[in-house]
Amino acid sequence: MAAIARFGTRVVPELPQIIKECRERGQLVKGPYIEAFEEAFATLLGGSGYVRTCSTEYGRMALYFILKAMDLPAGSEVIVPALTFWVVPEIVRVAGLTPVFADIDPVTFTLSPQAAERAVTPNTRAILPTHLYGMSCDMDPILDTAKRHNLKVIEDCAHSLGATYKGRMTGTLGDASFFSFQAFKPLNTYGGGLAWVRDQAIAKRVGEFADGEEWPTEKRVESIFSSGKWQHMFIRPKVFTFSLFPVWYVASFTGSKPEERLWEKVRPLSPLPEKYRGRFTNVQAAMGLAGLKHLPEFIERTRHHARMLDEILGDVPGLVIPTTPAGREHVYYQYCPYVPDSETLVKRCIRRGVDVAPMHVDICSEMPLFGWKGAAMPGARKAATAVQVPVYESLSDEEITRVGRLVRQQMLRINASAK
Ligand SMILES: *Cc1c(COP(=O)(O)O)cnc(C)c1O
Repeated sequence: MAAIARFGTRVVPELPQIIKECRERGQLVKGPYIEAFEEAFATLLGGSGYVRTCSTEYGRMALYFILKAMDLPAGSEVIVPALTFWVVPEIVRVAGLTPVFADIDPVTFTLSPQAAERAVTPNTRAILPTHLYGMSCDMDPILDTAKRHNLKVIEDCAHSLGATYKGRMTGTLGDASFFSFQAFKPLNTYGGGLAWVRDQAIAKRVGEFADGEEWPTEKRVESIFSSGKWQHMFIRPKVFTFSLFPVWYVASFTGSKPEERLWEKVRPLSPLPEKYRGRFTNVQAAMGLAGLKHLPEFIERTRHHARMLDEILGDVPGLVIPTTPAGREHVYYQYCPYVPDSETLVKRCIRRGVDVAPMHVDICSEMPLFGWKGAAMPGARKAATAVQVPVYESLSDEEITRVGRLVRQQMLRINASAK
């Protein structure tokens, strides 16, 4: 039986045709799709504000450009959730600002509005909520805090494309937002990202920063696409079973942590690495346009899988399925239930061919990189005990059933042996 990987990549069926067409026209790098993609994206977001594609390989550059364009006084404090991807607060620092961590609500995994309010000081200038795992933060009280203290709100939508809050799209609720198009994210263009900005003058500056980057060479674009294809191959069940999976399998016995090699090394990002530079290209935009066409079906299938997992796991003692408060539509970038002993469950599932993973975002307030001297973050600590169960749309319903049943069976066995 084939092993099931923790991540899927959303690769549109038209991709070979798209690459071929751009290559033949000599439009891999520059071309008309960039503007067309920006327009389509703006339409998806509901038409207000301005969008700009940013960077050949990294969505985080959209955040960097937004922060620079807002021109906040050097050293201003930016409130960041304690539980997010470490790169986010690090980019805040690269922009000359100071990240201040606020705890998350462990029920929803997202920034606690109360904690954000408590973190405000006279030096605070912005709040940077992450819509973690594909569900919106509770934005109304966060926006209220921002309004009362005159703070900018920049939404991190790397996981949340298509998720809504009270019927409105995440990414249009604050002053600005950014999206990542890296291979595992909701819209995959093998890298790059996009900034949405409400204010015209700030949007113009973001555009100047994005356009100020050099165009990448055709060779670089070709190499990004060939390594993207390789990544995609790697996590297909048939290949994954014989490639990455054995590494995980052995680690489940030896206790080593191979996944730490898989992710980008935690380090200061100033000066920005050379790989972060370069403009978003035409072939990526063409891929993004196709991805947007498929997005409703991708989201629907993923949500369907989440409902299947809810059904299979909902009554397992000790396991808490993800909670979605009323008024929020979750797109399940990750499906993360709480279990009493995540380490044991992860090991048991990996040994049986399903790559259930421990949490992979970071408790940033505990990372030596940030030297955080403020309060402890019990919400983020608690969130790190959840596990990540494969939910992505490229799995079949049969595979999701297998995943759900395995988690269920192993939880029941763990519960029985604990008695
Ligand atoms: C992936 C991610 C980013 C940044 O995206 P890149 O394209 O890798 O730069 C930002 N925030 C979160 C929460 C992410 O997961």
